[in-house]
Amino acid sequence: MRLAVFGDIHANLQALEAVLGDAREWMACDRFLCLGDLVGYGANPGECVERVRALGCPVLKGNHDEQAAIDDSLEGFSPLAETSLTWTRHRLLPEQRDWLGSLPLTYSSEHCEAVHASLDQPHRWGYLFNPAEAAVSLRLQTRPLCFFGHTHMPRIYRQRVADRVMERAGRWIGLGAEVQVVPDERLQLESGFRYHVNTGSVGQPRDGDVRASYAVFDPELRTVMLRRVAYDVQTAQASILAAGLPKRLADRLELGK
Ligand code: ZN
Repeated sequence: MRLAVFGDIHANLQALEAVLGDAREWMACDRFLCLGDLVGYGANPGECVERVRALGCPVLKGNHDEQAAIDDSLEGFSPLAETSLTWTRHRLLPEQRDWLGSLPLTYSSEHCEAVHASLDQPHRWGYLFNPAEAAVSLRLQTRPLCFFGHTHMPRIYRQRVADRVMERAGRWIGLGAEVQVVPDERLQLESGFRYHVNTGSVGQPRDGDVRASYAVFDPELRTVMLRRVAYDVQTAQASILAAGLPKRLADRLELGK
């Protein structure tokens, strides 16, 4: 079993299809886990909802999914996000909006757990950009491995956990150990550590690399790989412009910012 973990698709159908194809054909993934933000910014929200739903996999709710599902005013969102979310609400079918609104905030299995933004108050959509911020979420982790997204920056954090603390409590509750960034794109999980893995963004990378980003997790080999996939950026841009969405949303795809 190999699991493809992906999120922040942001209605970019070309990037989503490239990632799903790569996961199946090159990485031999037979399971999927979606970290949310299927919609917002891009031109194909309905198509992305249907593609992800057809996988039959666990899907978490992102902040854009939450907002796309309701009619409240969009306070706290950037003008670009607000414009695209208003457009997205009209574009989605009522039933697709209901489905987005029904998604859970967290996921937990035998091998890993997952959240869109942070285990610390998942509904508040906090951003984990550095080790100090990641520490707040790591503290609440109950499995050795947790996947998350939201920042659109692929990154692996790890923290050593004293084994005796784990044994006594029956779960990971160790506090205080320093959180480190793991510089590798390929990770061999070690016992005695817990890991927070940001899989980056499928549809709107912001780390200067235009390629779609996701992760491959092999629970038997205990490996995690951050993976980048080239996709048809021009068609995604043309779709955004044809939809009448802001040009800036198309421009940023070729910058990876
Ligand atoms: Zn996002």
